[in-house]
Amino acid sequence: MATHQINLVINKKIRKSGETYVTLYTNKELEIKIESSDTTFRYDKIKWQLEGNDIPIKAEHPEKISIKISPVVLLKEKNKLVVLDSLNKKIIDIEIRVYHHPYIVFDRKSTYKGEFLFDKGFEFTRLAKPEYYDTLHVGVTNNIYYAPVLGLNLNQTADINISKKDFPSFAKDDENFKVVIKASQDGFVKINGTDSLVLDANAFNNLSSITIKSEKNIGASSLHIYAYIPSINKKIGLLEYYCRAKEVRTVHLIYVKFKDESRYPSLDHNKLQNFLNTYSFNQLFLEMVVDTVHLGSSYKTTDFSGKISAYILQLLKTEKYGFMGFPAGIEVDYYFITNFDRGDVGGFHQTGDAGGVQTLWKGSAIGETQEEVTAHELGHWQGLPHTFRAFSATGDVQTIPAPFLWVTENEKGTRDNFMDYSVIRKTWFKFHLLNIKK
Ligand SMILES: [Zn+2]
Repeated sequence: MATHQINLVINKKIRKSGETYVTLYTNKELEIKIESSDTTFRYDKIKWQLEGNDIPIKAEHPEKISIKISPVVLLKEKNKLVVLDSLNKKIIDIEIRVYHHPYIVFDRKSTYKGEFLFDKGFEFTRLAKPEYYDTLHVGVTNNIYYAPVLGLNLNQTADINISKKDFPSFAKDDENFKVVIKASQDGFVKINGTDSLVLDANAFNNLSSITIKSEKNIGASSLHIYAYIPSINKKIGLLEYYCRAKEVRTVHLIYVKFKDESRYPSLDHNKLQNFLNTYSFNQLFLEMVVDTVHLGSSYKTTDFSGKISAYILQLLKTEKYGFMGFPAGIEVDYYFITNFDRGDVGGFHQTGDAGGVQTLWKGSAIGETQEEVTAHELGHWQGLPHTFRAFSATGDVQTIPAPFLWVTENEKGTRDNFMDYSVIRKTWFKFHLLNIKK
C-alpha cells in the first residue's frame, strides 16, 4: 500500500498530527483544512470531532471546518481536534490550546529614589475611584484595574517594571499574539526608543521593563500610555502620564542663631536644593531656588519653651521682617532653620502660606533625611496638607483645606508619601500635582 501525506492547514501553515496550536480567545472563527497528497482521498467520508463531539460540516466543503475561538466552544485549556475516517479510525489529530487575555502591571523599580512622580496611591487610599485614577477592566473576571500615574520632566527617562498577569508559559508559542505599547498621542514620549513598541508572544514573555522618555511637554493635562492587543481590540495595561514645564519657587533659608547659642545650625543648602529639584519637587514640576541668609536672633532658646508653633513662627518672622511681616502675594518662602529642640517634631509650616520653622535635626530612626523633612514642610507651603485625617499629636497641622480630602485615616497609611509621617518620603500623589498653589 502506498503511503501518502495527510496534514492539517491552519493560517496557511501545515500542521502535522500530534502538534499543538496555541491561541488567545479571540471570539473569531478559525478555519482548519485537511489536505491529502492522495488524489483519491474521499473528503466527503471524513468526520471532525472536537473533544469527542461531532463538528458540523458544509456539504460543499467537507475538507474544512470553522471553530469559534471562544470559551463557549473551546471549553478547556487543551482541546483535542480529531479527524476520523468512515470506519471511525483516526486519520489525524491536533491539540488546540487556549488562554484568556493577559494584562500587565506597571510599577517603579525597587531602586527608585524619587526621580519622577510615580503614584500608585490607589493601593491604599480611599481616593481609589475613577475620579482620581483612570481605570480599565481586565482579566477573566473583568476586574477593575487602576492606572498608576507617571510624571516626567522634559527629556527625562524612567525605567518602569512590567509584571505580566495571566500569561501562561505555553502562550509564548502563540504565533498570532501581538501586544502594542504606545502613548495615546504621538510625539510626546518614546517607549524603548520608539513611538509604538510592538511585541510578539516571545518578546512579551521576556519583557520585564520598559524605558519611557519624555520628548515634549504636554501642558496641564495628561495622556495615556497603554498596552493593547490589536486582535481583540483590548487594552491590557494603562499608565496616566504627565509632563509639564517647571515653575520657579524661591525659598529663603534663614539660619537662626539664638542669643544663647554659639553656632548657626547646619543644613547644606546646595545639597537641599539638589534634593528638592531631583528627588522631590521635580515630581510636581517645580524648580526650587534656595538661597541662604543668617539671623542672629535676640531671643534665647528658652524664650520658646512650651510655646505653640504659631507663636514661635510669629516672633521669628517679626524679628526678621518687621511687624508687618513678609509682603503678601510674593511667591517666596521664609523658612527658619534652628537648633531649637522640640522633641520629635522635625519642623512646622503654615499650610498654603509662606513661613515655617525647622527644628533641631537629630537624625531619624527610619533613615529619613533632613532634606526629606524640609520637602515635607515646603509641601505645606505649596498648599499641601497631610495625607491622613488624624491630627498630629502636637496639634500644629490645621484642617485640610478644600479641595483636599484626607487619603488615609491614620498616619503612616501611605507608605512613602512626602505628606505622610514616619515614612521614608519619596513620592507625591497625583492629587498633590493637581492642587499645588499656583
Ligand atoms: Zn506636616
